[in-house]
Amino acid sequence: MNLASQRAGWSRLPLRAAAFVVLTCVAILGVSGWREWAARDQVLKGAETEMANVARSLTQHAEDSLDLLDSGVVGVVSRLEMDGADPATIAKLRNLLEARKKAMERVHSLAIIDDQGNWLTSPGTIASTLSDDAFFRHHQLSPKREAFIGHPVKSLLDGEWVVTLSRRFNKPDGSFGGVVLAAIGSKYLSHFYEQFEIGRNSSVTLMYGDGMIIARNPSNEKFVGRNVGDTPLFRDASLQRPFGAYHFTSPLDGAERVSFFKRSARYPLVLLATVDRDELLAPWRAAAISRMLYVVALVMLIAVIGAVLVRQLQRGQRMAAALIEKEAHFRLLAEGSSDMVTRIGLDERLRYVSPSSNQVVGWRANQLIGTDALAGIHPEDRPQVQAIVDAMKRGDTDEARVTYRNVHRQKSEVWLESTMRVTRKDNGNVEGVVAISRDISEQKKLETRLETLAIEDSLTGLANRRRFDDRLKEEWARAYRDRSSLGLLMIDVDHFKAYNDEYGHPAGDACLRVVAKIIATEMQRVGDLAARYGGEEFAMLLPNTDAAGCARIGERIRSAVHDAGLIHASSAVAPCVTVSVGGAACRPSFERTAGAGSLVESADRALYGAKAAGRDRLMMSGEVMSLLKASGQ
Ligand code: GH3
Ligand code: MG
Ligand code: MG
Repeated sequence: MNLASQRAGWSRLPLRAAAFVVLTCVAILGVSGWREWAARDQVLKGAETEMANVARSLTQHAEDSLDLLDSGVVGVVSRLEMDGADPATIAKLRNLLEARKKAMERVHSLAIIDDQGNWLTSPGTIASTLSDDAFFRHHQLSPKREAFIGHPVKSLLDGEWVVTLSRRFNKPDGSFGGVVLAAIGSKYLSHFYEQFEIGRNSSVTLMYGDGMIIARNPSNEKFVGRNVGDTPLFRDASLQRPFGAYHFTSPLDGAERVSFFKRSARYPLVLLATVDRDELLAPWRAAAISRMLYVVALVMLIAVIGAVLVRQLQRGQRMAAALIEKEAHFRLLAEGSSDMVTRIGLDERLRYVSPSSNQVVGWRANQLIGTDALAGIHPEDRPQVQAIVDAMKRGDTDEARVTYRNVHRQKSEVWLESTMRVTRKDNGNVEGVVAISRDISEQKKLETRLETLAIEDSLTGLANRRRFDDRLKEEWARAYRDRSSLGLLMIDVDHFKAYNDEYGHPAGDACLRVVAKIIATEMQRVGDLAARYGGEEFAMLLPNTDAAGCARIGERIRSAVHDAGLIHASSAVAPCVTVSVGGAACRPSFERTAGAGSLVESADRALYGAKAAGRDRLMMSGEVMSLLKASGQ
């Protein structure tokens, strides 16, 4: 994968994270919703089963009730056919019928009707004839002996809605003798249905085959006698089954209902048990709403946390992109620079080395990374650099500049100047050090050269006058402190003007160089210093040297120059170059003097004395003093 496509994939990360969060939320909501819906289905299925049980048992009850009536009617029919319908039999039967009726709560009425449609037994005095009633006409016209279930009617006795069951009885000759009629009351049935607790807004309804309501609980009075034959239960072909579940909107009260119907197999009766859907689902709805509220709260929490995380991801990416850009800039600077840029960790190992290390120290960056950052430093300079690095690691200093010698792979050694700076983590703790190092060997060489120039005499290579003056002051102070003796020789070439005149100035310079070399070889102790004092005059500073030592060295110089045998034809002293030497020694802490200058004066005076005494000789200041005394000055 190349960098561009990697970055593109990277930038899509927050989008993917957001999509994941949304998907999670949708999935949680979806699964929860689906579960609630399944629970609702479960409730409805349970209600259907319950309604089915109610419908079946109440249909059974209706059939049993009619069977009971029928058994009574059959008994009366057989008595009438055996005993005849004479008034005496009727009177006996009337008592029997009364007794039966009293014994059985569900029997509304039991009556015998003659072949003209007149009541033979009747609780009250009902004048009307029943010759036009449907059941009477049915039995009158049909020879069939089966029971006939009549259409619900209002009882002539008390106005209550009843369902009638009747059978025909024949005269001994087989002709129509009349009808025995039994009725079951709507009130009884509705009262019976009250025992079933199936909910506040539920109902049980018994209907005749054509949709006429026989009994209902609750509100029997209001509904009995109504015909609901135009509803789908009686119209839809799909519902013309013996039993089944049936969901509908009630035409009576407009409520949504879950119900189960059962048609009697033997009688034209339909029983419908219904329950109000809203009421049925109310507990489920309340629980589902509270559960869904929790789920929604959870989803919102996930969404909020997700949004925060996506935000952080975006911010992190922006920061990372900025960091990459910064790093690219840094690399451009570090790698484009001729200076060596290094990053040093707290373990003092190199973490990063820029490519210019190849020029600066001769090793490639990858050869240096991971190695000890201070390894190449000259042992003499290392303690100084180590101290600075330690201070930086402790956090005492943030910036430092240090110059030191470092090994170079090809050259023996280079001078480096490093500018170091502490890098810190976000929490402020020191993370390491960044060092920018450059090769300053050329500069160092120049510096050394300048330093030499400042203290060296260019013609002879001896110390110059300035250096001599400085050292004289130092050695004077040291001799004072150490209570030691400090010696000084002043050396002057004899008749040098004449030499110049004879051989020319360049030859004079060459002569001075030879003399200087001879003087330098006599510089045997570390502290000794030979200097060109001016012109053809030299000085030799001899720390820790008394007058005798001073004289010994002075004499050695004089004889060495003489013995060198540099031809000097015009000299009045000898045919060769000679020098006169004046010496002086002093113990500054014991003698009363006017400082270092007095030592120079003494030596100078001795030199003057040596000249005066004929040149090519040494004279100590003590001798000068005694000479002066001798001459009476
Ligand atoms: P004396 O024996 O009394 O010392 O005599 P002198 O000629 O050496 O003394 P004087 O001080 O008169 O002369 C010093 C001469 O040294 C003068 C000058 O020409 C010469 N001289 C001084 N400095 C240099 C130099 O750097 N190079 C050359 N070639 N000659 C120099
Ligand atoms: Mg001179
Ligand atoms: Mg001279």
